[in-house]
Amino acid sequence: MNKKIVIIGGGVAGLSAGIYARINGFETTIIEMHSTGGQCTAWERKGYRFDYCLHWLVGTRSGPFHDIWLETNVINDKVKIIDHEVHTKVFAEDGTDFIVYTNIDRWEKYLCEIGPEDTKSIIKMCNDMRKTSVLEPYSDPPELRKWRNKIGSFFKMLPIIILFMKYGKKTFNQYIGQFNFKNPRLALFFDNLFSSRDFSALAFIMMLAWFHKKNAGYLLGGSKPMAQRMTEKYLNLSGILTTKKKVGKIIVEDNIAKGVLLEDGSEIFADYVISAADGHSTIFEMLGGKYLSEKIKEAYNSWELFNPIVQVSFGISSEIKTDFPVQSWISKNTHIGMTKTDQGYSIMNYCFDPSMAPPGKSVIVIRFESPWDLWKDIKDEDYLKEKQQIENDARILLEKHFPGITTNIEVVDVATPVTDVRYTGVWKGSYEGFLPSSKNLMSNLKPTLPGLDGFYMAGQWLSPGGGLPPAGQTGKWVIQLICKKEKMEFTT
Ligand SMILES: Cc1cc2nc3c(=O)[nH]c(=O)nc-3n(C[C@H](O)[C@H](O)[C@H](O)COP(=O)(O)OP(=O)(O)OC[C@H]3O[C@@H](n4cnc5c(N)ncnc54)[C@H](O)[C@@H]3O)c2cc1C
Repeated sequence: MNKKIVIIGGGVAGLSAGIYARINGFETTIIEMHSTGGQCTAWERKGYRFDYCLHWLVGTRSGPFHDIWLETNVINDKVKIIDHEVHTKVFAEDGTDFIVYTNIDRWEKYLCEIGPEDTKSIIKMCNDMRKTSVLEPYSDPPELRKWRNKIGSFFKMLPIIILFMKYGKKTFNQYIGQFNFKNPRLALFFDNLFSSRDFSALAFIMMLAWFHKKNAGYLLGGSKPMAQRMTEKYLNLSGILTTKKKVGKIIVEDNIAKGVLLEDGSEIFADYVISAADGHSTIFEMLGGKYLSEKIKEAYNSWELFNPIVQVSFGISSEIKTDFPVQSWISKNTHIGMTKTDQGYSIMNYCFDPSMAPPGKSVIVIRFESPWDLWKDIKDEDYLKEKQQIENDARILLEKHFPGITTNIEVVDVATPVTDVRYTGVWKGSYEGFLPSSKNLMSNLKPTLPGLDGFYMAGQWLSPGGGLPPAGQTGKWVIQLICKKEKMEFTT
């Protein structure tokens, strides 16, 4: 008899776990409360597709993340990958603009042209970034890493160990502060990048390296087809998928997870339970907060979260071309609905992906951060008014940036943090989980809980910084751990 695994959540982490579990011969059931993909999703409106998640996917070209994308059918021969030359074009209110190139050499040249007086600092910063491009993620979970792999990685890491020692516990603002940029245009950009948030210096330094190596591309078609390809792979492997059913409790007997209790009262028993659902609701609701380590308490009590976002998507009946996919505005005094855009707002034109709109038409999306406190107690009648106000304000912004465009708007869709929570259960609308900060970078949470057997977790909540790669990776890793426990050889 094959052992049985029940997986809570059919997002990227749950699908990844399901695929690897089936490949390794386990009987699997994924219970998903809405539809597969979780936050890696999109929605159709009048022939337009409004994408939510995929801007870039680390691992589009090589390395352990790439292996996962191949093994889970995220990437195959038919999937076209686009590598943008420009990451973002940033504008300040006074019209000053600033480009973030994805190629570090090109960016360095551009920065030196803007601020020749800061050349030394610019070169130092870009060299730090280049150094991190030797970094490769591990292919095995920490529990299974062999000494020879650890030593191999240590030698690979040697050139950047000093970087880790110097900046591992520093914030972005502390890192950038040391350069004291004299050029006002550079100073303006870097001062506004992460505002006063504790964003990890190293996370910033490492960010561009993925793009520089052309290993963080965009998959044509975006999030929904990506999730669909994973779902197809899982179903083709004869995995069982139940959608529109929510898990209320994890059934535990004698501190061993035995299965799940659904909100409709039905029970599913299994040899292992994997939760790939939201971390907070898994630990504190489905398990009643009974199995906690000090680190889990610290993480859920004090680590900063990503601010949730509001997305206003427009279907436009004309073709709008822009040179840059994403443009961001530093605009601290703008109000969109009740949100003051302290972190600015961005406008994304999907003209680089023709599958998003019918021929001759366009999809343009405005996104901005909106703190969860504004949304957590909002009443139904206020919520509808707020959505309308957001739409009105976003239309005005769109018209400001693309004069005349509003007469061609065919459809508008407003997705709020409440929408994200309703559809995926994500804690406080934090769409990538814990913010990578000076306190938690490289400080992953374990996939097991102290005192509870037969239970594993996967998904973005295990790795500060979140995102699709840790979701796919932790799905794979839990199956590696279960195989080890079962004394089976893990295969892909
Ligand atoms: C606007 C936006 C842009 C993003 N851009 C990027 C990007 O460019 N690159 C990148 O790498 N990442 C990006 N991300 C982040 C990425 O989408 C997430 O980190 C990733 O999808 C998380 O996957 P997950 O499987 O861990 O969790 P989720 O996607 O949250 O999946 C959890 C699943 O569990 C289900 N579930 C929850 N509770 C229950 C329950 N009780 N019973 C049954 N099912 C349950 C949910 O419905 C959901 O399907 C972005 C996210 C957003 C919202």
